[in-house]
Amino acid sequence: MSRFLCVLVCTVVFATFSIIDTKAGETSIRIGTGGKTGVYFPTGGAICRLVNRGTKAHGVKCTVESTGGSVYNLKAIRAGELDFGVAQSDWQFHSHKGSSKFAEDGPFEELRAVFSVHPEPFTVVARLDSGIKSFDDLKGKRVNIGNPGSGQRGTMDVLLAAKGWTTKDFELVTELKSTNQARAVCDNKIDAMVFTVGHPSGAIKEATTLCETVLVEVSGAAIDELIANNPYYRSATVPGKMYKGNEADTKTFGVGATLVTSSKVSEDVVYNLVKSVFEKFKRFKRLHPALGILKQEEMIKDGLSAPLHDGAAKYYKEMGWM
Ligand code: GLU
Repeated sequence: MSRFLCVLVCTVVFATFSIIDTKAGETSIRIGTGGKTGVYFPTGGAICRLVNRGTKAHGVKCTVESTGGSVYNLKAIRAGELDFGVAQSDWQFHSHKGSSKFAEDGPFEELRAVFSVHPEPFTVVARLDSGIKSFDDLKGKRVNIGNPGSGQRGTMDVLLAAKGWTTKDFELVTELKSTNQARAVCDNKIDAMVFTVGHPSGAIKEATTLCETVLVEVSGAAIDELIANNPYYRSATVPGKMYKGNEADTKTFGVGATLVTSSKVSEDVVYNLVKSVFEKFKRFKRLHPALGILKQEEMIKDGLSAPLHDGAAKYYKEMGWM
């Protein structure tokens, strides 16, 4: 009797779920981004907004997640915990190859590029009263090197190694998340913060308006060498007058932000995401000021070292872009 009851109940439950599933007929996708005051989070939000306008037609429902950043996103996609993620071009490269920070994980062969987005200068902000004027002045100071999992932390580690420095060269090292560092600078808990981020960004605006700070130049032989020897680095500038108290351009180096996924995500899903963005491209560029400079022809190739996902390539070919 009880077995009969179970069969009955289980059948009803199963049928109900199947109905809900087919009725909704939706595929949910999650995009991993970064801290809420960065540019990844609003970029993911902009992509989801455009995707979700067409959910009824294509069945893809998109949600955005605030995360620890690039390295976290790449690992979470590999583990199947995220479908898409925003990642710096340097960490896309290393994750795919299984090099640098990803040496232990080995090559992530299923990693796929979708498109690139905004440039991300490696940005150093210091308290005006700290006297820091160049990257070398950070020696002996209190510096936030970023949370493990963030792109800036990885790039900072590479930069320190290139300069022959270690964290012991600083008086104090903190590992705060990007959203907490502006406050720490202005509360005088640290002298400087680093953030690989698009401009303008909420975090840098916060650090330059809450208290008196300066953007710090990052240049010299070690930087030139990094740019010369690695395809994913380039020289970069944070434009003057963008942030309070910073009238002149600030020279530094940088990477590009990219959207990545896995070959396990279906061609249809990636095709619909890419189509949603490029069909409303003008609108997409207006959704955040750091996206305003995007050019479609650059987005489908710049900073992409992993192979393009088939769904993205399908749309780009349909449009005659490749
Ligand atoms: N580039 C940073 C990272 O990879 C995130 C920047 C942002 O949040 O906009 O972690």
